[in-house]
Amino acid sequence: MSFTHTPPAPVTIPVKGTGQQFPVHRIYCVGRNYVEHAKEMGYTGREAPFFFLKPADALVVVPEGSTGRMAYPTLTQNLHHEIELVVAIGVGGKNILAADAARHIYGYAVGLDMTRRDLQNDMKKQGRPWCIGKAFDESAPIGPLTPAAQVPQINTAEIYVQVAGQDRQRSTIDKLIWNVAETIEHLSAAWELQPGDLIFTGTPEGVAAVVSGDTMECGITGLGTLSVKVA
Ligand code: MN
Repeated sequence: MSFTHTPPAPVTIPVKGTGQQFPVHRIYCVGRNYVEHAKEMGYTGREAPFFFLKPADALVVVPEGSTGRMAYPTLTQNLHHEIELVVAIGVGGKNILAADAARHIYGYAVGLDMTRRDLQNDMKKQGRPWCIGKAFDESAPIGPLTPAAQVPQINTAEIYVQVAGQDRQRSTIDKLIWNVAETIEHLSAAWELQPGDLIFTGTPEGVAAVVSGDTMECGITGLGTLSVKVA
């Protein structure tokens, strides 16, 4: 086959303890999926989940035990961290019921939905798409995947991010408004999920700015840690 230019390399995430790589298809993200975060963004009540996407090549894949680097992005003066549980889809499908969701899940990872908050807020005010605030280069740092069978307690895990030794965000996965299974039900009604899809499930309260030189130390019980420096 003859290509007009070199095809992009596949984006892959290492799977802990297997030596295998998980090839990434799409990145779906859930908006406002923890009550206290919805409140801090000016919203109340349970609304149907809503989704946005990031390109797969926005991932910054950080191997276990090392510190990843993301460049401070252009055009913003208010870069926010959003620590999130990431679900990796292993078996695709559409109209998946929450009761059947578990068999579609390959595993989980710790991820950051980095956000140019000033640009996102401008777009919200104008009723325009969030892409420039959410889907920029290096906007999705992520650690290695842990197979689902190794983390049966994921739905009660603790999730946190610290900067300079201080808690910025700390919560538990059981505070999700729409849990992982319900999220898969809603998402797969709108798109046919494919093996390789990732779902960033939303962030708890405490989103805040980082500046160049900050290192975000993140973790989720059972999934290990994720360390990312803003360079
Ligand atoms: Mn988010």
